[in-house]
Amino acid sequence: MTTKKETLAQWLRDAHAMEEQALTMLDAQASRLEHYPELKARIQQHITETQGQEKRIKACLDRHGGTSITKDTAGKAMAMMQGLGGVFASDEVVKGAMASYAFEHFEISAYRALIGAAESAGDPETKRVCEEILEEEEAMAAWLAEHLPAVTQRYLEREDSGAEAKR
Ligand code: MG
Ligand code: FE
Repeated sequence: MTTKKETLAQWLRDAHAMEEQALTMLDAQASRLEHYPELKARIQQHITETQGQEKRIKACLDRHGGTSITKDTAGKAMAMMQGLGGVFASDEVVKGAMASYAFEHFEISAYRALIGAAESAGDPETKRVCEEILEEEEAMAAWLAEHLPAVTQRYLEREDSGAEAKR
């Protein structure tokens, strides 16, 4: 049989891999953006937040007996491929912002599940950490929701005037 604590530990490993994937994607986006300074700055802020999230989840995992390296590496490789895919798109800034918006909601769903799991497993520290992280993911998702139309309009205006638009 599998205990609540074992399942919570497995889901924390999944969340850790998710944050490593997030870092790879956000780094790739921020380093390429040139003509969208507001978007670039918000992504850089979220990179700093995500580095903190990775450390906080790692600390929760350590209390449950350690990380699984193999799984994390697989997540990173996947993120690398997704990052490279965006590089060749002529509308990469728009596709990247859309992908980020979707990814933040994936993270939100993961932390909402983890909050319930941590409560069931009797781990109030993990619950508290996940609630903190959830706030950062929701703030990033809300920023993207608000700015996605304007980023898209800026892309279209630059494209229309013959300026480099994609990044
Ligand atoms: Mg995150
Ligand atoms: Fe995030």
